[in-house]
Amino acid sequence: MAKVKKKRKERTRKEKAPKKHSKKHKAYEVSGDKLVRKLASCPKCGEGVHLAKHADRSSCGKCGYTEFTKKE
Ligand SMILES: [Zn+2]
Repeated sequence: MAKVKKKRKERTRKEKAPKKHSKKHKAYEVSGDKLVRKLASCPKCGEGVHLAKHADRSSCGKCGYTEFTKKE
């Protein structure tokens, strides 16, 4: 493979992207006076660390635990 010199990115000031808010609130739902956890929590990290839902799997962003969801 030939070595290709990487072109340095031009330093142009880009407009700052809006801050992404945490989606943690999406993991909970209040029904009546009870808090319902909608996402599965990580078996390794314990409660409070949720598995991110993907199309075919759920994964933990903290430890990398992945749980595949079976297709039916
Ligand atoms: Zn975890």
